[in-house]
Amino acid sequence: MNPNATETVAALRAREVQRENMRVLGLYVHPPGRSNCDPGGNLLLNTEPGCASLGRLTPIHTLFMNYDLIVIGGGPAGYVGAIRAAQLGKKVACVENDRAGGTCLNWGCIPTKALLKNAELYHTITHRAEEFGLKIGSVEYDWSKVIGRSRGVSDKLNKGIEFLFKKNKVDYLKGTASIPAAGKVEVTAADGTKATHDAANILIATGAKTRPMPGFPFNGKTVIGSKEAMTLDKQPKSIIVIGAGAIGIEFAYFFNAYGTKVTVVEMLPDILPVEDTEVSKTLEKSLTKSGIRILTNTKVTGTSEDGNGVKITVEGAANETLEADVCLVAIGVAPVLPGGVEIKLTDRGWIQTDERYQTSVKGVYGAGDIIGPPWLAHVASYEAVQCIEGLFTKHKPKKVGVFPGCTYCHPQVASIGLTERAAKEKGLKFKVGKFPYVASGKALAAAEPEGFVKILYGEPHGEIIGAHIIGSESTEMIAEIGLAMNLEATWDEIEATIHAHPTLSEMVKEATEVAKGHPIHV
Ligand SMILES: Cc1cc2nc3c(=O)[nH]c(=O)nc-3n(C[C@H](O)[C@H](O)[C@H](O)COP(=O)(O)OP(=O)(O)OC[C@H]3O[C@@H](n4cnc5c(N)ncnc54)[C@H](O)[C@@H]3O)c2cc1C
Repeated sequence: MNPNATETVAALRAREVQRENMRVLGLYVHPPGRSNCDPGGNLLLNTEPGCASLGRLTPIHTLFMNYDLIVIGGGPAGYVGAIRAAQLGKKVACVENDRAGGTCLNWGCIPTKALLKNAELYHTITHRAEEFGLKIGSVEYDWSKVIGRSRGVSDKLNKGIEFLFKKNKVDYLKGTASIPAAGKVEVTAADGTKATHDAANILIATGAKTRPMPGFPFNGKTVIGSKEAMTLDKQPKSIIVIGAGAIGIEFAYFFNAYGTKVTVVEMLPDILPVEDTEVSKTLEKSLTKSGIRILTNTKVTGTSEDGNGVKITVEGAANETLEADVCLVAIGVAPVLPGGVEIKLTDRGWIQTDERYQTSVKGVYGAGDIIGPPWLAHVASYEAVQCIEGLFTKHKPKKVGVFPGCTYCHPQVASIGLTERAAKEKGLKFKVGKFPYVASGKALAAAEPEGFVKILYGEPHGEIIGAHIIGSESTEMIAEIGLAMNLEATWDEIEATIHAHPTLSEMVKEATEVAKGHPIHV
C-alpha cells in the first residue's frame, strides 16, 4: 500500500472522529477549505447563527463537500432553488454560463412582455386614438429604442438576480458546468480555466433551447429562433412564423402591430393548440382581423433561404410557396443537458425524475424545463422549491398539478385546468358558465369589449374543473381561479366572494352565476 495513502486515510479517520464528536453534540462543522478551517485544515467550530445554534445534524459524508448544493443553471428553476436552499442555511453555489435569470428574464418571458407592451401601446395610438378623443398627427417609432427598452428591462432584472445571490450568500460561479461524477461539478470558465467543486447535492436546472426545423438550420438572420426575433436590429418587412404556440403567436402579434406582413403556419387545426378550442377560434378571428394571415391545418413541406429571404412551401389550408424576409421557427424546445455522468432520460430526451425530483443518479436532482413539459417559468420555480424543501426539510415534495398558462398578445389568453374538450373526453359531468367582456362595465369603460370568461364547474358539487379567459388582463384574472382551485373552492364560495366593482374580475363571479343558472347581468 502507498504509505502516503495510509497517512491520508488515517488523517481522514481522525477528522471524522473529530466531526462525529461535534455532531453528537449537535454542532455543525464546515468542511476543509472553508473560512472556519485553520490553515492546516483542522476544523474550527462554527459559530454562525443558523448552524451551531440550531444544532442541525448533517450526514457525515456531506461534511467533506465544499457545498451542500450546487445548482447548474441560473434561470427561474436554478436561481430560485439556490436562494431557497441558502435561506434554509445551506452552503450553495449556482453556476450559469450566460446571464443570471436564465431564458425567462433575458430571452423569454420578460423581454417579450416589454415588446408586447410597446406593440399594444403603438397599436392603440395608431388605430384607436380617435375612440379616446385623441387627435394625434403622424406617429413615428424608433425600432432600436423599441428593442432597447426590452433589453434594458432584462438588464435591470439580471442585475437584480446577481444582487439576490449576494444578499443570500449564494456563490455565483460563471462558466459551463458538467457533472464528472455524483458529488462533483466541473466548471469551465469563458477563458477555458477549469475548477472542480464538491457538492453533497446537485440540482440540474439547465433549461431548454429553441428547436430548429429539420433541414432548415438557424442562421441568425433569415432563419431565426425567439432569441434573434427579440433582438433584430432592423424590422423585417415580412415574416413567416412556423408554429402557433404561445411564443409564435406573441411574436406574430408584435411584428404585425408594427406593420410587418405576418403569416403564421400551424399544422394543427387551431392556433394555441393547448387552449380551449373556443378560445383559440376567438383569438384566430381577432388576429386575422388585425391583419395576420393564419394558416392552420397547414404543413411545411419545403424550405429554402438565399441570404436575403426565405421560401416556405406549405400544403393544407393553402398550397403555395410563401416568401418573406425572415422565418421565425417556433415549433418547440429541446433539452440543454450538462455533460458528464450518465443520467436516465425520458423517451423525448428530458431528464427523468422521481417524486422527490431526484434523477437516476443519487444526489443529483432536476427541476424546470429540463425535466420536460410544461415549459413555463412559474412551473420551473415551483418545481425547484419543492425539490429543495424536500431535500433540506421534512417537506414532502409535490409534483406540478394545476398551473396557469398565459399568452400575452391582444386579446390576452389565460387558462387553468381542463379544456372543455378534455373534460368531455374524460367523461366528466360539468356545467359551463360563460360571461362576455362586452357585458362588463369595467371592460367597456376601458374600451376592451373583446373576449369572455368561461369556467367549467363539476356536477353536482360545483368544483372548478377548468377556466379559460380571453380578453384584456386575463393573465392577471386567472390567479383568482388558481387560488380557488388550490383551496378546492366550489362555485358557492366564488359566488359568495364580494368582488370589487367595477373590475374585470367581477366577470369570474358573473360566469359562476351563469353556470348556476341565475345570472344578473346577461
Ligand atoms: C420567447 C420566450 C417567451 C417565453 N415566455 C414565457 C412566459 O410568458 N411565461 C412563462 O411562464 N414562460 C415563458 N417562457 C418559458 C420560460 O422562459 C421557461 O419555462 C423558463 O425560463 C424555464 O426556466 P429554467 O430555469 O428551467 O430554464 P432557463 O430559464 O432556460 O435557465 C437555464 C439556464 O441554465 C444555463 N445553462 C444551461 N446549461 C448550462 C451549463 N452546463 N452550465 C451552466 N449554465 C448552464 C442557461 O444559460 C440558462 O440561463 C418563454 C420562453 C421563451 C423562449
